[in-house]
Amino acid sequence: MIIRRIETFLLHVPVTGNHIADSLHQVTHWGVPGVIIETDDGRKGYGYTGTHGHTATDRLIEDAIQQTYAPLLIGENAHDVLHLWRKLDRFPPAQWVGRTGVLKLALAAVDVALWDLKAKDAGLPLWRLLGGAHPDGVPAYNTNCGWLSLSQSQLVDGSRKLVVEEGWAGIKVKIGSKDPHDDFERLAAVRHAVGPRTRMMVDANGAFDLPRAMEYGRRFEDLDIGWFEEPLWYDDVESHRILAAASAIPIALGEQLYTTDAFRAFVSAGAVHYVQPDTTRLAGISEYIEVAHLARSFRLPVAPHAGEMSQVHVHLAHWHPSTSLLEYIPWIKDHFEEPADVRDGCFLRPQQAGASTTPLASSMQNYSVPI
Ligand code: MG
Repeated sequence: MIIRRIETFLLHVPVTGNHIADSLHQVTHWGVPGVIIETDDGRKGYGYTGTHGHTATDRLIEDAIQQTYAPLLIGENAHDVLHLWRKLDRFPPAQWVGRTGVLKLALAAVDVALWDLKAKDAGLPLWRLLGGAHPDGVPAYNTNCGWLSLSQSQLVDGSRKLVVEEGWAGIKVKIGSKDPHDDFERLAAVRHAVGPRTRMMVDANGAFDLPRAMEYGRRFEDLDIGWFEEPLWYDDVESHRILAAASAIPIALGEQLYTTDAFRAFVSAGAVHYVQPDTTRLAGISEYIEVAHLARSFRLPVAPHAGEMSQVHVHLAHWHPSTSLLEYIPWIKDHFEEPADVRDGCFLRPQQAGASTTPLASSMQNYSVPI
């Protein structure tokens, strides 16, 4: 399985719904900068990362794949995934300019494509290639009802529908309104609508300072909040440690962390309780595996970010025994040959060989960003 050809692609997929916003971001399209790695036996592996669909920055990721990583991969054996991951991750000129950021997102796409190839060649879904799935299903929680831009009645009606009519294992509500009382009112209304048994999480997307986060933590105790996600700036270990020590509400974070080292800093400081790795920001599946094992060594649950948006998180969640919950946001799943899906509150286990990252030909045609 010698690597002969590397081609990049860039899709901008319109997100479902008209009002997608959290405390820091507004999203109209999801960006899918990706790579196709082809071997001498004609196999193709697909990998991608995720962005907010800004063409100029997405092109930086494509360029990093084409100009920096592709020359290091041509002629290599695609079976040697971990060797190639280390070779690219430690390539001195790239390491000098980008141990986080664009180069990590580019490496994520490459690494996912290599694992996709390896699983396809073995004729196995990725979860089975990695060692098999634990027997319990993976409970799915839904974030798509909880956007900050929804009115309170939209939020309440949507949450009730998901829990009562559709049987989701939980929901997540975005917070960060200008007036904190609006957040508390919205959350109280949702809690009333979904009842006391429903897992309800909240997500501040890194927008708060420590005093505001401490105040929210106190108020959350009456609302039975399952976890407080990204309460503070993404990289601020010490403030998260202080909050975690002062609050009864578990802290969840990780979707903005680029390295195993960053996760280790939070975990060893006691600054996180639910570990939320993302293969599209870490350097792919190879680094996700390190983070999942790190969490397990501290007896912490893993709840990967945006399960169906990476597609591979569905495989990894079925495989890794520390996975407790997986997030569902149905923005891009229907653009893949084997879309992630949920039934009776649990993710379906993928069946096709590979990592479920092969886009539909029609989506490649319809959503490619012209050069
Ligand atoms: Mg989040």
